Amino acid sequence: MKIKINENFLRIKESYLFSDIAKKVNDYKSAHPDADVIRLGIGDVTLPLTKCVTDAMRRAVEEMAVKETFRGYAPEYGYDFVRQAVSDYYARRGVTMTADEIYVGDGAKSDLGNLTDIFGDNPILVPDPVYPVYVDSNVMCGREVTLIESNEENGFLPSPPTERRAYVIYICSPNNPTGAVYDKAGLSAWVDYANETGSVILFDSAYEGYISGDYPRSIYEIEDARTCAIEINSLSKRAGFTGTRCGWTMIPNELEAGGVKLGKLWARRQATKFNGVPYVVQRGAEAALSEQGEIECRELIAYYMKNAAIMAEALEAKGVWFTGGKNSPYIWMRCPNGMGSWEFFDYLLERAQVVGTPGAGFGSAGEGYFRLTAFGDRDRTIEATKRIGALL
Ligand code: PLP
Repeated sequence: MKIKINENFLRIKESYLFSDIAKKVNDYKSAHPDADVIRLGIGDVTLPLTKCVTDAMRRAVEEMAVKETFRGYAPEYGYDFVRQAVSDYYARRGVTMTADEIYVGDGAKSDLGNLTDIFGDNPILVPDPVYPVYVDSNVMCGREVTLIESNEENGFLPSPPTERRAYVIYICSPNNPTGAVYDKAGLSAWVDYANETGSVILFDSAYEGYISGDYPRSIYEIEDARTCAIEINSLSKRAGFTGTRCGWTMIPNELEAGGVKLGKLWARRQATKFNGVPYVVQRGAEAALSEQGEIECRELIAYYMKNAAIMAEALEAKGVWFTGGKNSPYIWMRCPNGMGSWEFFDYLLERAQVVGTPGAGFGSAGEGYFRLTAFGDRDRTIEATKRIGALL
C-alpha cells in the first residue's frame, strides 16, 4: 500500500508491563498448579455499582423501551441533567463550575488522550513515573515530551522546573502509580508557574474520591487555577464505572490561549468526533453524583481504603518506605534490600505467591519501587499482607 502511516506511532515505546506480568504469573502457575496466587496488581475496581446507580439505570432502560420516552443520540457534551449534577457535586465542596463548563464524556482516558487535538506543537511536561496515556498520546502526534523526575526526595511530588517555559503540563493527584497527593501549597506552586509562564495544566483527578485528608480534590480549589487549568475526572474509581464509562472534562470559560477560548475548541472537537455517552449510563452517573450516590460511593471507597490501611500498617511495622495508601488506593513501596522492581516481583511471586506491579513499568524513575493496589477482596488482601509481612 502506498499511503503513509503516522510514523509517530513507531516512536511509542511498546509497553509489555501487564502482558509480561500475566506471562510470569501463568508460567509460575503452570509450574506450581496448586499455588494460591493473590493479585494485588490490578488497577480495576472489584465491587459492583451501588443501588441508587443500578436503580436509575434500570428505570432508564425501561424508558428506552417505550416510544414516548425513547432517546436517540445524546448531546455531545452530555445531557443537561448530568452537567448540572457534576456542577452540584463540585458546589458541595465549594468549587463553582457552571454546567456549560462541564463536558461529559466516556471516561478520563479518552479525554486525556483526545485533548491533544486542541493544542498545537507545544512542549509537554510529564512527571516520571506516570500513567502512560499522557506520554503516549503526545508521542502519537509528534510532540516533544519532557519528563520531570518524581523521587523519594520530593516525596514523588515534583515541584515546577526552574526553567520558565510555556508547557502543557500533566498533573495527577492522587497519583497513579505513586499514590502521592499534592497539598494546597504544592498545587499552588504549579498554578503560579502555569499562570506566570502561560502554561496550561491538565489536572487528572480520577482518584479524588479517595482523599479524606486536607488536600485539594479539585485544582479549582486553588486560587487562579481557572486561568490556567483543565480538569479531567471520572466515575470509574469513585463509583465503580470502569466498565460502565462516564467522566467529564472541565474547562473554565475564562481559559484562553492565543486569544481563543479552550472550551470552544474542545466543544468543537467533541461535536465533530464524539456522539455522546449512552442515556442509560448518564442516568446512572446522575445518581452516582447525587447526595445519596455520594453516601453509597463512600462505602465502596471505605472498603478499598480499609484494604489500603491494612497493607500500609504492615509496611509501617516493617519500616518499609512508601507513599500512598492514605488518600489513594495505591501503595508505592521501595523494594527491600535494594532490589530492582522486577527482581522484587519475582521474589514476591516465588516466595509469597503475591502479584504486584513493578514500578519500572511506569517509567525509569519507578525502578526500585513497587505498586500494590487496594482494589482487591478484603480476606485476600489480609492474607497477601500477612505473606508480604513474613517475607520483609
Ligand atoms: N487517569 C488515571 C491516573 C488512571 O489511573 C486511570 C485509570 O486507571 C484513568 C485516568 C482512566 O480512567 P477512566 O476509566 O475514566 O478512563
